[in-house]
Amino acid sequence: AAKQRGKAAFVRYRPGMEAPVLAHIQLGGELRRALDEDELHLVYQPIVSLEDGRIVGVESLVRWNHPTRGLVSPADFIPAAERTGLIIPLGRFVLRETCRQMAAWLAEFGPDAVQKAGPNVSAHQLHDPGFVADVVAALADSGLPADRLVLELTESAVLRGQQVSRTLHDLDAMGIKLALDDFGTGESSLSLLRSFPAAIIKLDKSFVDGIEDDTADPVARQAVARAVSQLAQALRLDTVAEGIENQGQADRLRELGYTLGQGFHLARPMPAAQLTALLAAQRDTVVVG
Ligand code: C2E
Ligand code: MG
Ligand code: MG
Ligand code: MG
Repeated sequence: AAKQRGKAAFVRYRPGMEAPVLAHIQLGGELRRALDEDELHLVYQPIVSLEDGRIVGVESLVRWNHPTRGLVSPADFIPAAERTGLIIPLGRFVLRETCRQMAAWLAEFGPDAVQKAGPNVSAHQLHDPGFVADVVAALADSGLPADRLVLELTESAVLRGQQVSRTLHDLDAMGIKLALDDFGTGESSLSLLRSFPAAIIKLDKSFVDGIEDDTADPVARQAVARAVSQLAQALRLDTVAEGIENQGQADRLRELGYTLGQGFHLARPMPAAQLTALLAAQRDTVVVG
């Protein structure tokens, strides 16, 4: 029902209607226009080596520059996109644009500058029978090698059934990397990790927050962070710690076995041109010693 309502261009306000629901319906209607009118763009957040600070990858994040609301957060419009089914064309746009941009960086800076790039993929996209074909087309049209693409999925998205499991194995067989996003917050299960063709675990920010303090609760977070890194090592998965906001966190995570991190302290999400400038600066840096 929500899906059908979302497809209507206008929903008249009725007293008692929940404001957030109304907001989602309006956003749903406006999102279609946003897709047609190029109001969406991507920003890229570096994934950085905690050892030497070099950029090793990027996550692409969608932004909506709304003509009157200004910048709308994906946390606000991704749920509306999922409810209305617009997540499929939106996700296709994000995938194609990420592949195109990553192929351009590879051509400009060579194979070692940014090793991998990846968008977030919603559960709805994984359930779409056309998803694998969309990925194949995005790679073919951009010329991006499959092993340069990382798809970020949440645990709850990959937990659902045979069809999704087949899709994931098809993607894995093509050489595409799969990352488990926000790890530790969902329905994490060890059997999932055994059967899922994951390459990367992204430790959720909630375990990183406060991890530099040695008071009672952060100690529990440290224990989780260490357990996740040890598990990843045993299963030969890479790890990325998310949401690093200060040097103390970066240092502590390194001690706990993390070699890669992401967060405002390391680099904020930025427009492609800004990341291009950063990559040029990194290329021109002479490593001393
Ligand atoms: P996510 O995939 O876990 O992405 C990380 C989010 O954390 C991003 O928020 C990023 O800007 C933010 N972040 C990174 N470092 C820090 C930090 O040090 N401190 C804090 N406070 N935040 C940090 P953003 O871009 O607002 O995206 C929020 C969520 O929306 C994403 O979480 C992802 O689940 C979803 N999302 C974003 N873009 C897309 C997309 O293209 N498709 C889909 N399906 N979902 C998307
Ligand atoms: Mg993500
Ligand atoms: Mg994440
Ligand atoms: Mg997160």
